[in-house]
Amino acid sequence: MKVICIGRNYADHAKELNNPVPSVPVFFMKPDTAVLKNGEDFYHPEFSNEIHHELEIVLKISKAGKYIQEEFASNYFEEIGLGIDFTARDLQQECKTKGLPWEIAKAFDGSAPIGQFVKKEDLGDLNHIAFHLEINGSIRQKGNTSDLLFDFNKIIAYVSQFVTLKTGDLIFTGTPAGVAAVNIGDNLKGFIGENCLLDFSVK
Ligand code: ZN
Repeated sequence: MKVICIGRNYADHAKELNNPVPSVPVFFMKPDTAVLKNGEDFYHPEFSNEIHHELEIVLKISKAGKYIQEEFASNYFEEIGLGIDFTARDLQQECKTKGLPWEIAKAFDGSAPIGQFVKKEDLGDLNHIAFHLEINGSIRQKGNTSDLLFDFNKIIAYVSQFVTLKTGDLIFTGTPAGVAAVNIGDNLKGFIGENCLLDFSVK
């Protein structure tokens, strides 16, 4: 399986990093070794002093497809969850300055913790999903899918022009504003509504 991540998909987050708001989705990938499941600890890597949390809604692809049309895209995912797109912001800044790819900043081991998934039918209107991140009990990021620049169907249609989607692939759909560094000892909890779906610690 592969992990596909959408960048700059909430205007307020693009702004906080001084990035332009894109006219088409920006995407990048992480390998399967990035995924952490079942509340496994995240071990803070030594190569960065600035590992940022990015809480994101995650789609689990349920059927293979290529050149998926937007109107049929909702048939390609059944379950939705939460994940953290951990980003070594210091390394990413260097990559951006030099015009280099982002893998060392985005694709490292453990950089994609995911939580439990729920059936999309249980979430009601997918264009109004409220979600938030608590660190050590205080709210640090809050988002709502009504603020997405590119909704789930547009993302699937766009990405599948370039990359075949397969069953079990994960799509991280972008982070709202409020990204910041995590510290060893932090506990991160992700919620959709009041439902805690993600819970792990930084070691
Ligand atoms: Zn992200």
